[in-house]
Amino acid sequence: MNVGILVIGDELTSGMTQDTNSSFAARELYVQWWRVSAVMTVGDDVSAIRGGLDYLLGISDALVVMGGLGPTADDITTACVAKAFGLGLYTDDTVLKQLKERFAKIHIPWTENNAKQALFPDGAVVIDNPAGTACGFFLERSGIPVTVMPGVPVEARNMLLEGVIPLFREKLGSRERVAKRAINIFRLSESKIDQELARENLNIPGVSIGFYPRFPQISVVVTSRGEDAARVEENLTRAEKKITNRLGHYIFGYDDDTMEGVVAALLTDRGLTLAVAESCTGGLIIDRLTDVPGSSLFLERGVVVYSNASKVDLLGVPASIIDKHGAVSEETAVLMAEGVRRLGGTDIGLATTGIAGPAGGTEEKPVGTVFVALSSGEGTICRRYQFRWKRRRIKEISAQIALDMLRRALTGGDILA
Ligand code: AMP
Ligand code: MG
Repeated sequence: MNVGILVIGDELTSGMTQDTNSSFAARELYVQWWRVSAVMTVGDDVSAIRGGLDYLLGISDALVVMGGLGPTADDITTACVAKAFGLGLYTDDTVLKQLKERFAKIHIPWTENNAKQALFPDGAVVIDNPAGTACGFFLERSGIPVTVMPGVPVEARNMLLEGVIPLFREKLGSRERVAKRAINIFRLSESKIDQELARENLNIPGVSIGFYPRFPQISVVVTSRGEDAARVEENLTRAEKKITNRLGHYIFGYDDDTMEGVVAALLTDRGLTLAVAESCTGGLIIDRLTDVPGSSLFLERGVVVYSNASKVDLLGVPASIIDKHGAVSEETAVLMAEGVRRLGGTDIGLATTGIAGPAGGTEEKPVGTVFVALSSGEGTICRRYQFRWKRRRIKEISAQIALDMLRRALTGGDILA
């Protein structure tokens, strides 16, 4: 099956907003084994929208349209679709009532332009939007299902997954079941993962494996398809087990798990507390950990100790050590982790110090040299890393490495250099 994707909005054609909806939709459609016939971007313009619809209808078995369903005058998608298909518009009373109730509930005065969001082309079926005010709709054009969704990414995503894909499956008579699992990996390159997986027999019926690198980690997505739901799940589990056994501690989580979320859960489950001293990561570790709800349960403090003086004043690292070995050294990193742990009175202290560049590198310690230290009741470990990226990426990977070191320490994994 070929699906056409049409994204609509002047914000897209002017380059003000980057189109993320079509790539998300394409990925989700691909997982269903549907091909994308074409992706088109047009502005909020009657003839461009009509032209896009005509073109895509000519080469597709189904259409996904996103954007231009807002209440303001510039959003004209509903009217354009109706016009292009020679249809009138009707007001859906249930949607209108829900809209008014929603406004009342959040104490926003109702204005008549909002009634526009209850207008649909004749014959269209409303698709609910649990995440926002603009409902989507579905209609058929010469037997081709056409679904129209709002452009707000979170709304489009929910609607695509919960409304549109099931609808396409039903309309186009697909009895195929799909189950998928993302396996999130850190510190193995794509080619290394590929090599490792080649050693497992992953030739399981209906199972395919894709790589999705998202710096600094890689997700291996296992997709299992077939007509028998139980068999589909069973095959997925089989593949997942083989991959898990093969990659072991390189796997930090599954699906939407983040490194910080996994670390936070480990600390919380074990009732352990943490203090962090950051130099080259500039607060990124704390930023990520505090993204996790409930982080106050384990996080006692985080300090950004950027200057030598702050390492001395706030962590008690002796100035003589910094003078002798440098602020970026194993000695300093160890004393930072131990200092912040002592001052915070925590179970664990974590510290980073490094040269993010572009200046400041030496022959002995080039740009990208980073030390990460972890102090606990069992002693202190420190590892030296050498990264080749630019400043921002060095910060990001250092934060991830530090969190991963903590995860490995808590789960009995090897602490990698
Ligand atoms: P709309 O449904 O056209 O009112 O879109 C609402 C907002 O969603 C826009 O102002 C954009 O910020 C965002 N948006 C619309 N289309 C896209 C897209 N294809 N990718 C990412 N963001 C989008
Ligand atoms: Mg718009």
